Amino acid sequence: MAIDKVWSSQISHRAGELCLGGIAARSLATNFGTPTFFLDEQDFRDRARAWKSALVGAFGDHSGNVYYAAKAFICTEVARWVAQSRIGLDVCTGGELAVALAAGFPPERMQVHGNNKSMAEISQAIEIGVGVIVVDSLIEIARVASIAKSLGKSQKILLRLTPGIEAHTHESIATAHEDVKFGFSIASGAAWEAILKVCTHKEIELIGFHSHIGSQILATDAFGVAADRVIELAAKFRDEFGYELAELDLGGGFGIAYLPGDVPLLPEIVLPALWTAVESACQKYRLGIPKVSIEPGRAIVGPAMFTLYEIGTIKKVILENGAERNYISVDGGMSDNIRTSLYGAQYTGIIANRNCSDELALSRVVGKHCETGDIVIRDIYLPVDVVPGDLFAVPATGAYGRSMASNYNHVPRPPVVAVIDGKARVILRRETPADLLRLDM
Ligand SMILES: *Cc1c(COP(=O)(O)O)cnc(C)c1O
Repeated sequence: MAIDKVWSSQISHRAGELCLGGIAARSLATNFGTPTFFLDEQDFRDRARAWKSALVGAFGDHSGNVYYAAKAFICTEVARWVAQSRIGLDVCTGGELAVALAAGFPPERMQVHGNNKSMAEISQAIEIGVGVIVVDSLIEIARVASIAKSLGKSQKILLRLTPGIEAHTHESIATAHEDVKFGFSIASGAAWEAILKVCTHKEIELIGFHSHIGSQILATDAFGVAADRVIELAAKFRDEFGYELAELDLGGGFGIAYLPGDVPLLPEIVLPALWTAVESACQKYRLGIPKVSIEPGRAIVGPAMFTLYEIGTIKKVILENGAERNYISVDGGMSDNIRTSLYGAQYTGIIANRNCSDELALSRVVGKHCETGDIVIRDIYLPVDVVPGDLFAVPATGAYGRSMASNYNHVPRPPVVAVIDGKARVILRRETPADLLRLDM
């Protein structure tokens, strides 16, 4: 059976069973329980390396860093893999920073994001010596400067800019049009005002601009437009101040395949396109080419994980048009995957433990939570002979799955089990009822 792009590289199918690293789904479920996130460690490491080498391949001497966006998914073990992959880490809260530090991640390879970093978060970041703080507002310029001054340090910063792009993705994850909370608008003059402000503080060193246009973007053109607008501003900066900014960070947001037929934005496709856009914009505005960094999150961890559920109850519903729909309930739902109800994300899935009937029925895969919107897959055709106890696997759940998980309905959050070289180990354990009670006084 051909392995679809929605599955990670170490996935195979054997006699109807889904296998990861040669371990069959039934055995994974027996050993680790359900629901569980299974993380293909080789796939993760290969993707981290692929983004790095594609950046170097396309930009050569002008390649900056790949920063893995921790918010997609992080735990101490994964932070160690990121460190071993020789790429950087992008954190946006004190919590993500705490995980990175617990993993021994080198602070100088970290970049700190966020539109409302607290004073404590800024202080800690400067104190431990993070490489770069990406500054998001005028108030934050003043805060970073005053904290750096009181610590007797100088801090490198990037200014986050909004280039005014309507990226083709869901409203909740588009970040670079004018009416957003992030960054400084180029068009309105806010960006220029921020630049002038930064220049009044000698404790902060402006090394360049940052732009992140959104997430799950499947075409390269919007990145090119963003690069052009940001580079135009960098040229204006050079004209005004007589020197060129060394760095440009074009953010993350590279889309992955969720459904069969989706075409992911692969590193070897998008980075040469970014190079062309950056090079031609620099030529157009007569600017030297800066060092370019990127921040993929989803594109590294998303395809590397799948969720394994056990099917519980099954119910047939007659629709208005007389057709039938099978409601298939799994033992998790919106607490481990909020993306379907949050922004209509689409997933596929398969019965993972056996060969089933070729006859398919319109089905809806739902969770166990007390909301109608608790849907894992809204519409999917699944075999008619599905029974309670069957296993159901949903691919591409690595990004914004476990990291957005909640304890809604007091459901313990699922573990993450890493599989490599045919061996599986828990890297983030399952919560227990004791975990759920530990905050009650
Ligand atoms: C979320 C985010 C990313 C990562 O986005 P992906 O879609 O996961 O690649 C990168 N940079 C910034 C600033 C972000 O907010």
